[in-house]
Amino acid sequence: MKGLIFSVKRYSVHDGPGIRVSFFMKGCPLKCLWCHNPEGISPYPESVIISKRTGTRIFTSKEEVGKYYSVEDVMGIIEKDEVFLHQSGGGITFTGGEPMLQVDFLHQVLKSCKAGGYHTAVDTSGYSSSENFKTIIPFTDLFLFDLKHLDNKRHLEITGCENIEILKNFQLLLESGKDIMVRIPVIPGYNDDNDNMESLRKFIITTKTESVRRINLLPFHKTGSSKYARFNFPYSMEGVQQPSAERMKELKEFFSGTGIKVKIGG
Ligand code: SF4
Repeated sequence: MKGLIFSVKRYSVHDGPGIRVSFFMKGCPLKCLWCHNPEGISPYPESVIISKRTGTRIFTSKEEVGKYYSVEDVMGIIEKDEVFLHQSGGGITFTGGEPMLQVDFLHQVLKSCKAGGYHTAVDTSGYSSSENFKTIIPFTDLFLFDLKHLDNKRHLEITGCENIEILKNFQLLLESGKDIMVRIPVIPGYNDDNDNMESLRKFIITTKTESVRRINLLPFHKTGSSKYARFNFPYSMEGVQQPSAERMKELKEFFSGTGIKVKIGG
């Protein structure tokens, strides 16, 4: 069995505790308008043309995005950093794209990571079946779970998918007792209004919060916007400004009212 991965990041420090190896898995059922990794959306390998300017000259090259890895390939990469991962209290993170889209491979590779004594994290939009989540819960130590919008209609408009299953799966993971870090992207004009932030805060408070270790508020930025043209996606966020430092600080204080540690950024 093989999994389609579009990037491997060693010495990663933003995808869970300690130093980690992060595997970016290809394919996502959502299409968030602000997505920073448009190369992770298609579930197929892609060839893209990259243009680079040097002085007045533009050089183009072809790049393959997405490569199939076996579980053994993944374990071979991880083992190279074994000492750093263990000494730093780090581990392995599967992100994307949406790792749950390749749940059979994810299940196998998480199982191998746990057998090797590694801490495991899965970064997910929550959009999958509860059955799929149940297969990986026993082999996952930490879930990085995105909450974007609580209004179902608005969620559909800005991500292309409804949030009903997502919210059910959040509840399922809370009940599993596994560690959770909630990630809330802050996208001006899309989900950052006070009503949505209040709904998100209430939702977090009214669900069982003991296993929520941290809330990460992720301010919108345009890194990744230049990649849209390569993948033939329209980029609709050109006129959107990054939230101000004051607004992020205000939201940090607001979410601190949940009693959970809040951090701005990943
Ligand atoms: S869930 Fe994540 S990877 Fe998928 S489209 Fe949204 S931002 Fe991109």
